[in-house]
This record gives sequence, C-alpha cells and structure tokens, in this order.
Amino acid sequence: MSESNGSIFEDAIKRLDKAFEYANIDPEALEKLKYPKAVFQVSIPVRMDDGSLRVFQGARVRYNDTRGPTKGGIRYHPDVNIEEVKALAFWMTCKCAVVGIPYGGGKGGIVVNPKELSKLELERLSRGFIQQIADFIGPETDIPAPDVYTNAMIMGWMMDEYSKIKRQHTPAVITGKPIPLGGSLGRDDATGRGAYYCIKQLEKHRQWKPSEITVAIQGFGNAGQHFARLMHKDGYKIVAVSDSRGGIYNATGFDVPSLIHAKNETRQLKAVYCEGSVCEAVPADTITNAELLELDVDILVPAAMENQITEENVSRIKAGVLCEIANGPTTSTADEILAAAGKLVIPDILANAGGVTVSYFEWVQNKAGYYWPVEEVHQKLETIMTREFGAVYAIMEQHKISMRTAAYTHALTRIGEAIASQGTSTYFAKA
Ligand code: GLU
Repeated sequence: MSESNGSIFEDAIKRLDKAFEYANIDPEALEKLKYPKAVFQVSIPVRMDDGSLRVFQGARVRYNDTRGPTKGGIRYHPDVNIEEVKALAFWMTCKCAVVGIPYGGGKGGIVVNPKELSKLELERLSRGFIQQIADFIGPETDIPAPDVYTNAMIMGWMMDEYSKIKRQHTPAVITGKPIPLGGSLGRDDATGRGAYYCIKQLEKHRQWKPSEITVAIQGFGNAGQHFARLMHKDGYKIVAVSDSRGGIYNATGFDVPSLIHAKNETRQLKAVYCEGSVCEAVPADTITNAELLELDVDILVPAAMENQITEENVSRIKAGVLCEIANGPTTSTADEILAAAGKLVIPDILANAGGVTVSYFEWVQNKAGYYWPVEEVHQKLETIMTREFGAVYAIMEQHKISMRTAAYTHALTRIGEAIASQGTSTYFAKA
C-alpha cells in the first residue's frame, strides 16, 4: 500500500495538541497517542474469474487499545493508502472514547475498486484478506466492521472465514454482519441515526422549526440516505443531495423516500417523486459536489469522503451548521477558519459515532448470545448520543472552544485517564 498523502495523518493528530490544553491529562498520554500501536501490511493473491492471478494490497492498523480491543471498519477503495488508514484508525480511537464505549481504535483497507470485481472475485478477496490478518484480529483483540464500499455480506464472508480458520463459530470477531449471521437489528441505519440524534439536540438549543431549516447532504450512501430519511420525516427541508457523480438541488426540498427508492432501483441519483413504484421527474438543478458544499443552506452534511472542506473552498461555505457524517471531511486549517467565522461543526468523531456504537451493541449481543428488539437498540443509541452530545456541548461552552476541540478534549480525558491508571512518570518517580 502506498504512502502517498502523508499529511492526512499528521493533519489528523494536530487536533490532539489543541485539545491537550483543556483535557488536563499527563503529557505521556498525549505522546502515546501520536503513534499507532501496530501497522500490518499484507498482499492478497486472488484468482480472478478469467483464470489470471491478481495481487491486491491491504493493511490493518491497530491504533490504540488502552480502553479495549481495537475497533474499526475495513475500506475498499482504489485510492486508500497507509497514511489514510492510520488517520482513520486514530479517529476511531477518539470516536470510541467520545461515546464512552470500551474500545480502542483500528482501521483496515484494501486498494481496490470493488465495482470492477465480480461477486465471486469480491468474496475471494474478502476471505483472502482475513486469511492474512486472522492472527491479528479477534473478539478480544481487534474487531473489524464495514466502511466505505464494504457491506453486511462482506462482513458475513469475513466472519465465516475467521470461524473456519479458528474452527469455532466466532460472530463477535466482526460487526455489521447480516442479521441471520448474528448482526444486530438497527446496525444498518445506526450512523445516520446517530447524526440525527445530534441534530435533535441542537434543534432544542437553537429552537429550530424543522420546516424552516434547509439541509444539503454530500454523499448518498448508507449513512447519508438514512440521515436524510429521518430528517425528512421530521419535516426538515432536504434541498440538495449528491453521490460520487454529482448532485441535485431544489429549493423547495425533495421527497427523500422517492430519492432513496430511485437510487436503490437504478443505482442513480434522480430528482423524482414516486407513488409506489411509479416515479416521475421533479424540477431540479444539476450541481457538482463542489457546488453542493457552497450552497446557502442552514445545515451542510458532508457524508462522503475526507478532505472536502479545505483552505481553498472554506471561505465560500455559507451554512451555519455542519454535521460531519464522513470521517475527516474538514482539514485542520479549514476547521480554524470555520470556527473563526462562528460556524458550528458537529465533528465526525461525535456525529458519526452511532455506527460504532451499535457495532458495540452487536458485539455485546454476540457475546451474550441474546438478541435485542430494534426498539431497544434505538433507545440505547439515543441515550448514548444524547448524553455525549450534551457533555461535548457543555465543554464547548465552558471553555468557549469549537465543538471539535471540545469533542477531542472529552476523548482525550477518557483515554488519558485510562493511560494514567497504569501509572505515569509522576507516579513512578514517587516509588
Ligand atoms: N466504519 C464505521 C466508522 O467509521 C464503523 C466502524 C465500526 O462499526 O466498527 O465509524
């Protein structure tokens, strides 16, 4: 896996130094958090359907496991690189601490465009990756999950492969599995739902009337779709959405269930209104992903990839509130400019933490062998998101800092306390 884009990890950990000022933890804890615990790079030979052999590059990073087994998704993407996986694993460490679930952070990736592979090739690749990393993962060691371009079926193949290698049914090694293979109800919409619960809290602070609030969403994958669906149901006006090919805009708002229906039927984003399965086109402007970010809306939701809001376009962002469903959509420089402009950014490590939170519920259910109804999953997720949003908001107000720095402060305090519980130089010097 290539080392290009070295700055994304360096940029990610810059946020630590800022939060350190407010977290009141030992400097040794901070030092520990600047490096990943382990980085595994593997080659995965795959027999292709035409009989040829292709060797794919993959990696798994275990960033920090002080608070529990490392946890985080596996990304399939042609551009994924090792610095990005390190950054994503670092964010997972902070994310799990923000929501207070007993995990550290990890992440994996394979350099591949899954759309170019047949289903059988995809299965062989997924099983091949697990064969290479089986010694480094496990229910008490490192627990993968879905991420960009991986899904429940891939998680099912991976769990099955791991169970075969260990000769023991081991559902808790991986989360985001299909329900019949030990997946949790409510995991599919958990990331979008977690972000929605954050907005519901902000709604109270700002006394918003949903029908007066406009929302633009960049990215119409799993998380973006579910977020849009829940917001639309509450009356928010979803005026723009996009996928990797571009976006659509209509100032009066879209009927989100129709957009989801059309996208699932045709794999394309279309401005439509559907009655049952009959859809008709509605007026809309075609916009680019870059234009979507700069729309004059109340809430902007980056729900696609990292590095979308940068020094270059940040001054043109008009939305007053940003809710980061993607991991790392804003660079650290852009971040400071947004904060100085008085915009409120619900940071990724809080806004998208619903996914890993329900992954945790899935792992708990697998270990207990006892499964919860969906209402219980929703209610437990809402309790956690509401509690942690409140804690981060209070830190923000107390220190008059950005919500991102507040979230890192919250995470750093929890991780720092765990590290300090094993002793720091202050403790050992006294011995
Ligand atoms: N890939 C998701 C994330 O970035 C989920 C990780 C998980 O469930 O472990 O948060």
